[in-house]
Amino acid sequence: MSNWSESLTVAKFGGTSVANFEAMSRCARIILANPSIRLVVVSASAGITNLLVKLGNEKLSGNERESVLQQIRNIENAILNDLGRPKQLETTIELLLEQLAEVAAQPDLISSNKLKDELLSFGERMSSQLFAEVMNQVAENSVAVSFEGRQLLKTDSTFGKAEPQVELTKNQAEKLLNPLLQEKVVVTQGFIGSDNFDNTTTLGRGGSDYSAALFAEAVSAFALQIWTDVPGIYTTDPRITSQARPISEISFNEAAEMATFGAKILHPATLIPAIRSGSKV
Ligand code: ADP
Ligand code: ASP
Ligand code: MG
Repeated sequence: MSNWSESLTVAKFGGTSVANFEAMSRCARIILANPSIRLVVVSASAGITNLLVKLGNEKLSGNERESVLQQIRNIENAILNDLGRPKQLETTIELLLEQLAEVAAQPDLISSNKLKDELLSFGERMSSQLFAEVMNQVAENSVAVSFEGRQLLKTDSTFGKAEPQVELTKNQAEKLLNPLLQEKVVVTQGFIGSDNFDNTTTLGRGGSDYSAALFAEAVSAFALQIWTDVPGIYTTDPRITSQARPISEISFNEAAEMATFGAKILHPATLIPAIRSGSKV
């Protein structure tokens, strides 16, 4: 048994943490400094999901749609350029961008929650590919691999706010993920899953926190780390008032309550797997 398996840690990095090459490199260094982190869950790069939501919800002209798609391409290509555009990754990202443009052009997009979830999935699908390559470049070695999280996180078919199927997700993790974790640091996507017909689903905005908790439960992780752009949970949003104070320790129930009443620091469902498994603070 490898020495990390006792302390297997899942780490989730949010949108600002994977906003660009620099930010991704900082995250890669955090991961490489802790051999217990074997599973990494990433959000879409900052701004991408908002742009995808715009494509899915607003009636845009052809030109307007093209302009939003171009903003998305610019963010992804900036990271790809900083990576030196490795051929295989370039092909993968270009293909994803083409598929994204096709979904964005579907005439019934606005009325179809199913198509919208397909559209929303592209942000995380691109950031995870780019992030795995950043890890390999920072490590100067092939230490990380990106893994298709939709086959892991099985959900019902409530597009836009899917409910996870916990046992199925656990089975998938045992079958598909555990062998890979022996070999590499696995980088997967938060927020997205698939239903029993393999349609893409999403857990709702901010859902990557919840995904990370579900994956941590599925692999019986020792710890889940949620990395973000503020240094902890505060009494209130530190971006709104300088009077916000850091909270050094908080129970799962209190944190869940804060999240339910709108503290964006955690998706409200994130604590459910921990409470279910009887974990301690
Ligand atoms: P990520 O993309 O990493 O998931 P989010 O933007 O979803 O990040 O959540 C982090 C943000 O949550 C912080 O930048 C902060 O403005 C906000 N926030 C709201 N309430 C709190 C709180 N009680 N403590 C800390 N941050 C909070
Ligand atoms: N990318 C998704 C969002 O912006 C999920 C997440 O970041 O947690 O809502
Ligand atoms: Mg968030």
